[in-house]
Amino acid sequence: MSRVLVWLRNDLRVADNPLWCVDTPAETMLCVYVLDRRWLTPWRPGDARARIGPARLRFLWESLMALRGELLVRGSDLLVCVGDPVDELQGVLRRAPADVIRVREDPGWQESDDVQRLASRLPSAVKLETVSGGTLFTREQLPFSPGALPDTFSAFRRRVAGLAPRPSRMAPVTLPPWPDEAPRGLPPLARVSPEAAGWRVDPLGGPWPEGGERAGRERLQRFLAGPLDHYRDTRNALLGDDVSSRLSPWLAWGCLSAGQVMAQLAERPADDDAAVTASREAFVDELLWREYFHWAARQDGAALFGEHRLPVAHEPALEAWCAGATGVPFIDAAMRELVGTGWLSNRARQNVASFLVKDLQVDWRLGAAWFERWLVDYDAASNWENWRYVAGGGRDPRRDRYFNVMRQALRYDADGDYVAHWLPDLASLPPGPARHAPWRHRPARFGRPWVEPEAWRTVMTSSAVVTGQ
Ligand SMILES: Cc1cc2nc3c(=O)[nH]c(=O)nc-3n(C[C@H](O)[C@H](O)[C@H](O)COP(=O)(O)OP(=O)(O)OC[C@H]3O[C@@H](n4cnc5c(N)ncnc54)[C@H](O)[C@@H]3O)c2cc1C
Repeated sequence: MSRVLVWLRNDLRVADNPLWCVDTPAETMLCVYVLDRRWLTPWRPGDARARIGPARLRFLWESLMALRGELLVRGSDLLVCVGDPVDELQGVLRRAPADVIRVREDPGWQESDDVQRLASRLPSAVKLETVSGGTLFTREQLPFSPGALPDTFSAFRRRVAGLAPRPSRMAPVTLPPWPDEAPRGLPPLARVSPEAAGWRVDPLGGPWPEGGERAGRERLQRFLAGPLDHYRDTRNALLGDDVSSRLSPWLAWGCLSAGQVMAQLAERPADDDAAVTASREAFVDELLWREYFHWAARQDGAALFGEHRLPVAHEPALEAWCAGATGVPFIDAAMRELVGTGWLSNRARQNVASFLVKDLQVDWRLGAAWFERWLVDYDAASNWENWRYVAGGGRDPRRDRYFNVMRQALRYDADGDYVAHWLPDLASLPPGPARHAPWRHRPARFGRPWVEPEAWRTVMTSSAVVTGQ
């Protein structure tokens, strides 16, 4: 029996956790989470705001507190430190020696680098064990080597069709005891980040997705009990709590595993209604997008992030985009929702990303870094791979991948309800296309937009945007 130190990163749950669902019993087990101090450094050169924003940090802290509660009732505990992960872990080991350090391998260049740095500093008597997890399938199950991941999502989906997701395991009833000499507990959020402790979700947004395993499980039950059945038709909606699953924050921090979601889904009885079946298939497809990008990020390593150092950007266009002040309602509404709530629908993410890169011509990495700051569901693989994809690079590269934001606005927000919700001034315009081009109707009140791309011209002239009818 050995003394184990479990290094938690993105598996903040007790059930189905590969870090302690192992066959070898431990004499003692010390669970440590390190908030990486680099996350508290500026999100880009020239702007002091931190890489991890208040919404994300708040969700993380809630999840850690919830996890601590779950661990305590099972005879264990949690220690949360702030600093360089490798230095902090070495400090913990000095106070509470361990024979084994167990960590889950994560996509993300910095995360892999941390594991290697730790390995190079450990005394030979300490064994570093990396376990796999975070994905639906194991490496061994994949019908191709990880280096030969198919170039497109559709090819990936075809290749993994029929594979059974790894089984999801129940929460242990008890866990190995905590080593007597080890410190425990977590610092108050206000000490780590006064910004996060004082942050409040914008009441215009939906309910705050409280962090932690129990809240994630409840959200999953609620989604499976109804919204799932019309998911295919509602997933592109911009307003409403139950239009998509909204499971992403819990999946990103590992308060829920993708395997648990699939296992619960498999328990639903089959339905004769073709629309319901199509909805369930569409939802599984999205989980497969996540899977694809997680394997892709493992393969891409540092290349996923382009240059490690972000470009210095003083472009006023970037600042207008971040602040939701480009003058394009469809973009500004989404950027305000992002900063007000830490969340954004997939449709809105695609549009704001394409607009920044293709219309404002700003380096995509700056957009990805802003999302990294704000999204409560930020995960390195899904965020950076999606950004690269929308920008036209990465997987399935296509230079002409372009979202015509005006066309998208008229299609997905025909009455302008979404834009008027986040930009209440627009409610003074009649519901309909006018709300998407207010500068054409009330030039004295609504300024001209930052750009008016050529591609919008046909959309605007062929619709009532021009006349406001
Ligand atoms: C520019 C950009 C950045 C993004 N950044 C992130 C991110 O940091 N974290 C993140 O989880 N998702 C990211 N996404 C993907 C997607 O927008 C969100 O996963 C989704 O909107 C979350 O809402 P939901 O849980 O209701 O999703 P649902 O539609 O209910 O989908 C179910 C689950 O499938 C996964 N999923 C769905 N779409 C995608 C996708 N395109 N790529 C990867 N996984 C997907 C998510 O885990 C999601 O919770 C990004 C998309 C874009 C275009």
